[in-house]
Amino acid sequence: MLHVVHHADYMAPKPERGTFKFDKYYLVMEALRTSGFAVTEHAPEPSPRGWLEAVHCPDYVEQVFTASVPREKERRIGFPVTPHIASRVRHTNGGTWLAAMLAKEHGYAANSAAGSHHALHDTGAGYCVFNDLAVTANRLIASGEAKRVLIIDLDVHQGDGTASLLAGREDVFTLSFHAEKNFPARKARSTLDVALQDKIGDEAYLAELERHIPAVLSAFAPDFVLYQAGVDPHGDDKLGRLSLSDEGLINRDRYVLEQVRLLGLPIASALGGGYGEDQCEVAARHARSMLAMAFPDTEPEDLIAATSVFTGV
Ligand SMILES: [Zn+2]
Repeated sequence: MLHVVHHADYMAPKPERGTFKFDKYYLVMEALRTSGFAVTEHAPEPSPRGWLEAVHCPDYVEQVFTASVPREKERRIGFPVTPHIASRVRHTNGGTWLAAMLAKEHGYAANSAAGSHHALHDTGAGYCVFNDLAVTANRLIASGEAKRVLIIDLDVHQGDGTASLLAGREDVFTLSFHAEKNFPARKARSTLDVALQDKIGDEAYLAELERHIPAVLSAFAPDFVLYQAGVDPHGDDKLGRLSLSDEGLINRDRYVLEQVRLLGLPIASALGGGYGEDQCEVAARHARSMLAMAFPDTEPEDLIAATSVFTGV
């Protein structure tokens, strides 16, 4: 069973400015619903304001809540922050929290949006408004639901916002694997950064995971894992610089799940990045990522076949 968090507000009307495509969030759910795998959908509550203010500057939270974000910050984010977006980001942040609670119950659960790892203390950036990973990690610890949180970020872009928001904390470990030459140009310092060269493929990528993830799990000894499962390391991604195949991404997600499960730890994923002209292909990559973790014994070719109805291949 895949437990996936989704809310109608995840889809937003096409913004008047910017190139971000919100229809992805609908298509991801359609890819899951037509996959033939058992999927249970859960609707999140909006994130309480105080949880956001515990990580972000209260003045910035106010700007988002009142849809009065200065134009300069909107340019950094990549789209205007309308009242709908304000409601959306409260739900996507509440969604990562709900996925974390479901993961404690079921072992694994996914949020079908968010992974907003570029959002900083007093501004959003790179399509990210509030940093659900930092907000959820902070809240898990503040509420006593977890003591030590590991954030594994395998989006092709560095988790710079997460790194800077959680810098100096001994109870949170930020681990980012990313393409060194990709956005953001100026990187923050995660607890551990693994900078990858352009065009690395499935085998070299998996070797890097094997080199670092078991060691971090063992040294840091987390009791909860948050996972930013961006599919933009795919070779066909418009904004990636790596060369993973469909199967390579599935094996990546299975590997992460296996390593975490070996230690009996809960893991919650957030959607992360994925870009391309063919939105159905991108949505199918995200859907397979979640299915690969919920059904780790399924062969990659069967997961690819399960989404082929959807992509029409
Ligand atoms: Zn990305």
